[in-house]
Amino acid sequence: MPEPTLTFSVTCPDCALESFSEIPIAVIANGLLTGKELRLYSNCHGRYWTATFAEREQLRKSLSVLKLETHTIQERPRAEQFEAAG
Ligand SMILES: [Zn+2]
Repeated sequence: MPEPTLTFSVTCPDCALESFSEIPIAVIANGLLTGKELRLYSNCHGRYWTATFAEREQLRKSLSVLKLETHTIQERPRAEQFEAAG
């Protein structure tokens, strides 16, 4: 089973071009919780850099949105069970 990842937009520090970066959710969550550095990557320059405070906040928000979606998905089987029983 593939590891769940989060795709988000990053701004390249070399050319300010926006591109999409994909990082495993576990890595982001761990980095945010422990205060560890998060490495971001820009496709255009093949460049890695450490996420800034603003970028970490952006990731934190993305993760909280994701949690809401997960919650919604978890509600569905219960509704199906109810329908099957009725
Ligand atoms: Zn670039």
